[in-house]
Amino acid sequence: MRNTPIKQLFYPFAFLTRAIIDLVYPPLCLLCEVRLAEGQEQICQPCLSSFVLLGKPHTEFSVPHDLYIHQAWALFDFDENVKNLIHHLKYSQRRKPILRLLDHFEKSILKQLPSEPYDLVLPIPLHPRKLRERGYNQVEDMARWLASRMGARVDQKIVVRSRYTQTQTKLNALERQKNLAGAFRIQGSPDLHNKRILLVDDVLTTGATSNTLAQVLEEQGCSQIDLLTLSTPRLSHA
Ligand SMILES: [Zn+2]
Repeated sequence: MRNTPIKQLFYPFAFLTRAIIDLVYPPLCLLCEVRLAEGQEQICQPCLSSFVLLGKPHTEFSVPHDLYIHQAWALFDFDENVKNLIHHLKYSQRRKPILRLLDHFEKSILKQLPSEPYDLVLPIPLHPRKLRERGYNQVEDMARWLASRMGARVDQKIVVRSRYTQTQTKLNALERQKNLAGAFRIQGSPDLHNKRILLVDDVLTTGATSNTLAQVLEEQGCSQIDLLTLSTPRLSHA
């Protein structure tokens, strides 16, 4: 007893506390709110299995001028589960469920993506004001998840969202493009010559935002800019 590390003495206590918390507040599935089985986290198995993974690159953009994105993927069908997950991710600080989803589909996701490594994975940046309000960029975790599995690095400092753009939901493609003019600028003097970049965002609506950023990156000499989003209503079958 005398040699037992103090931490070890608390193990039974911690275990008991956890058991009581679980009894009073049992961990529930984020999406269907059923009680999670032992060993499950964040999203239950039936909900995980109900996500529909889309299998190939798409070209579903609606931009009025040139397209600067070379290849694009939207991982999942834009169904209620995806909408729900993104809502929780953006508005109720629930950051872990998306990683649980990506882990569950890891093999199939990676099989779709190019084997040639990217130099950089860039989450589409939020304006600093928005970042302060939310406390985090909701696509940062997804970007890190992808980068770690594709042997790339994430850089969140290269690009700054320099203009606070008004909400774009009611604008048409041309208005969106105008609204975004000058929205991004490159910070410092990074060497982007011949670099392959993967942009990451949660939902693709028209593609105007990512295309504007892709144009800025191409002007810096990047050789290829691809885009991966979690989903897009443009491909939805729902
Ligand atoms: Zn569920």
